[in-house]
Amino acid sequence: MIRAYLATCNYGEYLAYMEKKMDKVTVKIQCKSCSGTGVYRGYQEPKGVAVVCHDCKGTGGVDFSYEPFTGLKRQDGVDIVRISGGAFGAGPQGTTVSYEDFLEGKLPRREEN
Ligand SMILES: [Zn+2]
Repeated sequence: MIRAYLATCNYGEYLAYMEKKMDKVTVKIQCKSCSGTGVYRGYQEPKGVAVVCHDCKGTGGVDFSYEPFTGLKRQDGVDIVRISGGAFGAGPQGTTVSYEDFLEGKLPRREEN
């Protein structure tokens, strides 16, 4: 559906679509590898010696991008929703809920034996 839309839209519409799609927020967070210190000391480094953190290049911070949640989105091609079996090959289980009902907030239940 998106592919069909992109095939027919003009360049301006394409740019607007891409801008909306790229609506990510990037924040600087503390580097997990060095706990924000910019330096790292492991088993290889002698006492008193540190190396520049490989992940943050010594800055102590790294960029973290995320897409803010703006509400439940529709997925094309879904008719019904069920509970995941969880394990490999278990497949859908439990009661059946129409996708329209799911979008309204209704959830399928595990069947009781
Ligand atoms: Zn770091």
